[in-house]
Amino acid sequence: MIVHKFGGTSLGSAERFERAADIVAAHHGRFADGAAPAETVVVVSAMSGVTSRLVAGARAAAEGRDDLCREIKTELLARHLEAAEVLLPAGAERVSLCGLIEDRLHELERLCRSIALLGELTARGLDAASSFGEPLAAAILAAALRGRGIRSRALSAAGLIVTDDRFGAASPFREPTRRRLEEKVRPLLEKGVLPVVTGYVAATEGGVVTTLGRGGSDFSAAVIGAALGAAEVWIWSDVDGILTADPNIVPGARTLSELSYAEASALAHYGADVLHPKTIRPLAESRIPLRIVNSFNPSHPGTLIVEKPDRGRAHRPAIISTTGLNLVVVGAGGDSWTPGFAARALRSLCEAGIEVLMFSQSYSEHNLNLVVRDRDGAHCLKTLGREFSGGGEPAGVRLDVKERVATVSVAGGSEWNGKGLVSHAFAALGGLGTRVIAVAQESGETGVSFCIPEAETAAAVRFLHRELGLEAER
Ligand code: ASP
Ligand code: MG
Repeated sequence: MIVHKFGGTSLGSAERFERAADIVAAHHGRFADGAAPAETVVVVSAMSGVTSRLVAGARAAAEGRDDLCREIKTELLARHLEAAEVLLPAGAERVSLCGLIEDRLHELERLCRSIALLGELTARGLDAASSFGEPLAAAILAAALRGRGIRSRALSAAGLIVTDDRFGAASPFREPTRRRLEEKVRPLLEKGVLPVVTGYVAATEGGVVTTLGRGGSDFSAAVIGAALGAAEVWIWSDVDGILTADPNIVPGARTLSELSYAEASALAHYGADVLHPKTIRPLAESRIPLRIVNSFNPSHPGTLIVEKPDRGRAHRPAIISTTGLNLVVVGAGGDSWTPGFAARALRSLCEAGIEVLMFSQSYSEHNLNLVVRDRDGAHCLKTLGREFSGGGEPAGVRLDVKERVATVSVAGGSEWNGKGLVSHAFAALGGLGTRVIAVAQESGETGVSFCIPEAETAAAVRFLHRELGLEAER
């Protein structure tokens, strides 16, 4: 059995759903190694951008911004209905799919109304709201597959993946999850039905909805693949695998054709946009190969991640860049600064479901630098404002989004081309004159991350790629 997971950009529009359905149809039922026909399980993310809108809607509800909630609901309704109407011919299947989309979004509206009544968004409420996207994408893709003559059924992983109740970053329990999948998914496979399962979403033993964290549908695919003993897991994204740099910045970037589990996991930790970092472990434990492939270029072999990569492969490090970030500065006047400020800031952000990608603190300036995603910037300020206002706080805690930043990381082995990778990267950025705002370095010198002004990202990535000789033939 092969698990195929499609990310949000691979399901961004009716046309993208068509391509995803083509890919599934091309692989489903094919004879793997001339043995048994390959069974398929599909795992989906929400359509691109949908989860972020759901989060924005839930936050708006808690702040009593009814207008914004309604606007988001209307926008999501239009987007999903359009996909359904373009994909399916007029008829019963289309009517039932559109009905389902309308019902679900009506339910979302009701949820937002109760959040508004409470005037508070708990981590549990945020998971409930942000989990609405995947079931819609699963229903649309399953319908598109049925339109191609494949017996297919959409399933919610809330009934399949059993987790603890750490909302926003729940951890699956292996045995109960395996049992549910055996009970509910195996019989479908035996009947020749192709399940399309929601990624990202799960539930506690008692059925309370949880999520595995932003970008977590890769992890869902791995959990499902490991539990069902898949032959392979394929993750369909929008680039040709894991590359030496973002190909939109460096056209000559090279695909890393094979990586070990350990190497891929290290790279994923620097930029979860390529692969969610938790994805590797369940697969490594069961020695299930993972492929990162491109739904926009499906004939490219992509990156294969296995226990023991081919000895003859061209091994090289990679540059991972993440843009769309905000530098938030928490400052305290006079002598009031203590490390306790940092602890409080980080805890309150964690509880609000805001991921801090990097942080640094300066004793001489009495401040804390926090790097958060653009989409969380405003909410981050509000959360910190609440944390540091009242409670008899020493006066003069300053909060500010200082500028737009990016992180650029170089990772993949301590030595490269006869030089230390980390020191080479430092020297290269120094040579370019890049303004480095913060640094985080791995103790083994196998990787380093720099926080730099966003406007300097492309120049820094291109320069590093050339300086480190990552384009060269090997
Ligand atoms: N839809 C979720 C998100 O945007 C999960 C995922 O895409 O993997 O974070
Ligand atoms: Mg992703």
